[in-house]
Amino acid sequence: MTSSEMVPSETALVTGASRGIGRAIAISLAEAGLEVAVNYSNSAHEAEKVVKEIIASGGNAYAIQANVSEEQEVERLISTVLERSGKIDVLVNNAGITRDGLMMRMKINDWKKVIDLNLGGVFLCTRAVSRPMIKQKKGRVINITSVVGLMGNAGQANYSASKAGVLGLTKSSAKEFASRGITVNAVAPGFISTDMTKGLAADEILKSIPLGKFGTPEHVASIVKFLATDPGAEYITGQVIQVDGGMLMN
Ligand code: NAP
Repeated sequence: MTSSEMVPSETALVTGASRGIGRAIAISLAEAGLEVAVNYSNSAHEAEKVVKEIIASGGNAYAIQANVSEEQEVERLISTVLERSGKIDVLVNNAGITRDGLMMRMKINDWKKVIDLNLGGVFLCTRAVSRPMIKQKKGRVINITSVVGLMGNAGQANYSASKAGVLGLTKSSAKEFASRGITVNAVAPGFISTDMTKGLAADEILKSIPLGKFGTPEHVASIVKFLATDPGAEYITGQVIQVDGGMLMN
């Protein structure tokens, strides 16, 4: 960590930060000098490993379990971070799941689970931080959506609908909070190598990526860090930034 990167005494909450993209975001925000609340749902051991890694490199972090698709758990999560850190400057809504299947055979439970977490969780966390952020007249919210929310994907009706919903939610909350000094943006990754994409037809997908390689969690994390901490991002709100190797060119 270089001293020029230090932004002292800011706090970030990253949902789903025990693994994959969320883990990389947590590490990168800690490197930028923020204290990071590492949320997870089931992977306590992995979340503690992320915290240890951050502390070992001179940063500050702690882990908090909460299922962010549940209203009461989100309320508990946000009040715990506020008690522990005194404020939340940055919220990264990253937690997400897939339950893929063709429309014709998709179970209602797989529809609901994905919508409740990927879209409902973003709503619940954003609503819960809005009051403290409005009070401090400052905040940055970054929602992790997906290129499939922009272009659709066969076999992912639930997932792509949830991610398209996040785009609407991002723009509406950006308009609602703009006068309060809070920016809200979305980052739309393409194919990033994580547990989520393990076992997918990699060769086929690779052909659709002009840059000819899969993305890494760090590719996504560096854009999130820019939106969350860079003074240059102060005037950016309601935007969607794709990190997809050129997979979808609008
Ligand atoms: P991942 O490796 O499967 O990690 C998912 C993370 O979400 C884990 O930390 C997990 O925590 C957490 N999580 C799951 N359910 C949760 C819940 N109910 N409450 C709180 N946390 C929960 O996934 P990823 O690939 O890093 O994806 C991260 C985000 O990027 C997701 O929103 C995903 O849709 C999006 N995205 C990914 C890709 C990609 O190619 N990988 C592309 C576009 C968008 P536990 O370990 O405790 O379960």
